[in-house]
Amino acid sequence: MTQTAPHRRARAEIDLGALRANVRTLRARVAPHVQMMAVVKADAYGHGAVRCARAALDAGATWLGTATPHEALALRAAGLREARIMCWLWTPGDPWAEGIEAGLDMSVSGTWALREVTEAAQAVGRPARVQLKADTGLGRNGCQPADWPELVTEALKAEAQGLVRVTGLWSHFACADEPGHPSIPAQLDVFRTMLDHAEKAGVRPEVRHIANSPATLTLPEAHFDLVRPGIAMYGVSPDPAVGTSAELGLRPVMSLKASVALVKRVPGGHGVSYGHHYVTPGETTLGLIPLGYADGVPRHASGRGPVLVGDRVRTVAGRVAMDQFVVDLDGDLPEAGTEAVLFGPGDRGEPTAQDWAVAADTIAYEIVTRIGARVPRVYVGE
Ligand SMILES: *Cc1c(COP(=O)(O)O)cnc(C)c1O
Repeated sequence: MTQTAPHRRARAEIDLGALRANVRTLRARVAPHVQMMAVVKADAYGHGAVRCARAALDAGATWLGTATPHEALALRAAGLREARIMCWLWTPGDPWAEGIEAGLDMSVSGTWALREVTEAAQAVGRPARVQLKADTGLGRNGCQPADWPELVTEALKAEAQGLVRVTGLWSHFACADEPGHPSIPAQLDVFRTMLDHAEKAGVRPEVRHIANSPATLTLPEAHFDLVRPGIAMYGVSPDPAVGTSAELGLRPVMSLKASVALVKRVPGGHGVSYGHHYVTPGETTLGLIPLGYADGVPRHASGRGPVLVGDRVRTVAGRVAMDQFVVDLDGDLPEAGTEAVLFGPGDRGEPTAQDWAVAADTIAYEIVTRIGARVPRVYVGE
């Protein structure tokens, strides 16, 4: 088998030039003193964490953000030594000591985490960089306003003992992708109050931050010292309500392509794929696309997902199976090996990840993030 063989079946082309341009576009939306944290969790939303992190840093990001500590440690291990790296989803027993040694900024949402991180700092003999997370209304991770004074007091005590340095105060929005939602100003009010409390108590954070992609794009008053865009960096709009990629000046980074594996003539009345949920309306031609739900093509888009083959967009005929699905080519006879484009930037007539999100009743974040490990990432635009 040659090295390129797996790319012939299918590939996710990752346009790093587009990613760098998106980072610059986002940078231009924020004041010069505002830093940018490139969010590269979940393997950079399926685009490849290390390559995307390097491209984002080249284009002006100075921080990297991940969910888990393991994702953050993997970036350091891959040689990303200069950038600040923050991770925010900690579970009891996670590798705090390794995080201190790797110089990570570690989010703390409650007293159990502060206990574990100070114990680790004692063991390592070095202070931990800690960022206190406020739940300003998302109701997910973060410290409730009622518990904030205790967390701040404990963190300042640990700082006085030389065990932690509180480098940041931060939070996350619930509905920033719904411009005008009343929870947005409400969360900003709570955030300002919690910042004020912490700073009056003596916390001196390097950075205060709350803005994800939609807030970076639409809410300058939420930029504070740093913004944390994820999806917009990958050129995908957080929500059609915020604008299309093109309207936002962003270019989708991932294109999902496959080679048509088989083209054949079939008679009318022929069932197609498991369950025979599609039956050919007349004599036609079918194309076999060698990608399935194991590759992240949502089974929920059965009968609906769009695919460009030749110069026409076709629709998934019947069920998406684990490894493959079929499109009705309506009598056309492209050769086996012809390129099929499931999604891309959209400017050559191909569908977009947003189109697949609509077909699968989900969001474009889920479409790109779930493209499976069996699909090779091919980097272009270095
Ligand atoms: C995922 C995530 C982001 C980035 O969100 P986007 O909507 O993709 O910009 C920012 N901050 C936190 C805490 C996150 O979990």
